[in-house]
Formats: sequence, C-alpha cells, structure tokens
Amino acid sequence: MNILILGSGGREHALAWKIAASPLTDKLYCAPGNAGIAREAECVALDINDHAAVIAFAREKRIDLVVVGPEAPLCAGIVDDLEAAGVKAFGPGKWAARLEGSKGFTKDLCKANNIPTAAYERFKQAEPAKAYVRERGAPIVVKADGLAAGKGVVVAESVDEAEAAIDMMFGGELGQPAWEIVIEDCLIGEEASFFALCDGETAIPLASAQDHKRVGDGDKGPNTGGMGAYSPAPVMTAEMNKRVMDEIVLPTVRALKAIGAPYKGVLFAGLMITDSGPQLIEYNVRFGDPECQVLMLRLMSDLVPALIAARDGQLRSFDLRWHAQTALTVVMATRGYPGPYGKGSVIEGLDDAATVEGVEVFHAGTTTDGGRILANGGRVLNICALGESVAEAQTRAYEAVDRIRWPEGFCRRDIGWRAVARETKSS
Ligand code: AMP
Repeated sequence: MNILILGSGGREHALAWKIAASPLTDKLYCAPGNAGIAREAECVALDINDHAAVIAFAREKRIDLVVVGPEAPLCAGIVDDLEAAGVKAFGPGKWAARLEGSKGFTKDLCKANNIPTAAYERFKQAEPAKAYVRERGAPIVVKADGLAAGKGVVVAESVDEAEAAIDMMFGGELGQPAWEIVIEDCLIGEEASFFALCDGETAIPLASAQDHKRVGDGDKGPNTGGMGAYSPAPVMTAEMNKRVMDEIVLPTVRALKAIGAPYKGVLFAGLMITDSGPQLIEYNVRFGDPECQVLMLRLMSDLVPALIAARDGQLRSFDLRWHAQTALTVVMATRGYPGPYGKGSVIEGLDDAATVEGVEVFHAGTTTDGGRILANGGRVLNICALGESVAEAQTRAYEAVDRIRWPEGFCRRDIGWRAVARETKSS
C-alpha cells in the first residue's frame, strides 16, 4: 500500500514509525513531516489545509490510505473531501469532528444519550452566563466553544474569576470573541485519557494514558500542548476501561450514527475518574500528542490493518495486542516555550540517546541543515521509553535525555511523578 500521513509533529513521527514497520506498507509519504519523520517516510512540502492539493498528490502517487494526524484538517472536512474524490482516508468526517470542534454539540449529545458528563448550560451572552455562575457558585468551569488550542478553558475557583473569564471570552481575548460559551460544574477526581478506534458502527479500546500539561515541574506554570505522558494510566483499571467503553465511547458512536454523522477514526476521551465513576470532560477527534507516542510504543500489533478496518467499518471482530509494559515520554522544548522562542539551535547526541535500552526518540519540531538537526518549533523532541514499571521507563527516558546536547532546550524532570509515587507506595 501507498500511505500518506498528514502532519508534522511527534504524533505523526510515532505514526510514521509504526506504519513504516508494517509489511503492508510499500511507500510512505508524510506532508509536511519533519527531520525525524524523514527517516521513515518521504516528506513532501504540501499545505495540508489545501485540500485540493492533497487530493491531487494522493491521486498522482496512487495513495491507498491517507492518515490525518491533527484536528484542524479533520474539523475542516478533509476526510469528506478525500473520500468524495475517491481517496480512502482515516479519520472522522467534518460532521462527526464537531465532537472536538464544538463543546456545546458534545455536551448536548451527552445529555441526550445519558453519557456521564458535568452538568452544564450553553450561553451566547455574558449577563445570563454570569447569573448562572452566581446561582451555581464556585468552583465552576467556563469554556469557549470552538478550537482554542487548549486556551479556551478556565477552571474558576471563585465567582469573580468565572465572571472575568466570561468577559475575557466574549471580549475576544482568545483571538476572536467566543460565539458561545459552556459553563459546567467542576468535577473532582483524577484525570485520564482514553483512546478508542471507531468504525462508524462500533469501537474497540486502544489504551489509556495520562499527560502533563503544565510547563514546569510539580505541574506548575502555564499550560502547554503537553510536556510528557505515560501509558497505561494506573487509575484506568480493566474495570474502569470497560465502564468507559460501555458508558461513554459506545453510546457516543451509536448516537453519532443515529444522527447521520457516523464516527470513524480515533476517539480520544478526556476523563475525570470520580468517586462515582468516569465522567467525560471533553472529546478530541484524533490521537493526542504526546499520548500517541506512548501508545505506539506499546502497540504490539500492526497498526495498518486496524486503520483500514476502522475506515472500512470492519472493526467488529478486530483485536489489538499491547505490551503490558509502561511507556513514558518526556517532551524536550525550546527555552521560552510556551511563550516566544528562537529557532535554528543545533541538537546533538540523538543517536547516542537512542541506544539506551527501551528508548525511542521521536521528532516533534525539527529540520535539517546538511547533516545537522536543528530545532524548528516549541516542542521539539519526544524522548520515549518502555519499562517494566513507570519508574523504569522514567529512568530510561531521562538517561536518554541526558545524552542529548542541546543547551537551548529544556524539559520537565518529573514526568510520571504521580504514577511513580503510586508504585513506591504499593511496593
Ligand atoms: P478541556 O479543554 O475541556 O479538556 O479542559 C482543559 C482542562 O480543564 C482539563 O484537562 C481539566 O483539567 C480541566 N477541566 C475541564 N472541564 C473540567 C470540569 N468540568 N471539571 C474539572 N476540571 C475541568
């Protein structure tokens, strides 16, 4: 098969690494890719927002499957456009991608189908939103509708803070004024991510993970796209995984089919595991980044047949095998991230780092200059490791990190701390 991956981050490098290893893959392309992906695939300088250009390339190269990494092209309907042009594509169509694109849509779908999620109301104006906040009290959560790259959510500790968030969102501080906000109760518990593969009719579980969103050690400082992750999430026991499938994922897939928007692709459920069970915080319509990296490290089975079965509606009797080990990834970022940062600093020692047992290095934002690898983004590298325990995976990942010579880079030193503490307590 000829396969085309769309995207350029660590998620896409992990997908390329796994897809390139499949005996089904003849030729692998990635648009636009990065310096690490170039080792697995031929990188092509396509603008992935230009659907016509992607379609023309897919036809010319006789692409059998397009795998879409990021959410923006999914929400813009690239899968619908490719399929309409006769090109098979993995990922949800535009209508189903509203699960990520519109919080209001998702909340209403949950309410109508008894899918556990925080009680909420939707508002198009500030005054009634503020009145609702005063009535419910704090803590309370204020969310802007639409894709806001992780910045559209404020967990307010006080009514004043919630009212300020409402003004901020309707006032346009997120780039443009929110056309709608959702206000919901604050859920108490432990957060986890759960991934499932869906084929429009049914779904099979992939795996769970936990990530670290804050830039600094101890989960302090501003939010980022994710500074590290590990899989599985210790809080996600076999029983909890089954509850998430039965109470959240499968009812969602059935509900979307019923409204004529069948969901095919990866469904990423952001969960709060509360005393009374799992509650849905949000859906994303693609693999997480960096969660995808740890999932791909743990996946024993060939990924390509699974992607095809999802696309073809054939997941019913499909089974995937996973390594029981823990996978952990440490994100290395350019100093300054998530604020302004420079580009073009030289990274050395990557080959040495990759020789540490159980370690795999994925590139998230790199480019090449002759034989040199240069940083080309905020999040630049994912240093991933498998281990028998979270502690072992963590030790291996940081051993590899310490072999990388990149003065302009930094990483958190405590990825997995909660899970390691849990292991220490139980041993
Ligand atoms: P979201 O973009 O919806 O995933 O929200 C970003 C983060 O805000 C989540 O990862 C949670 O940490 C937090 N959050 C969102 N909704 C809630 C909620 N209802 N209760 C508690 N925390 C929440």
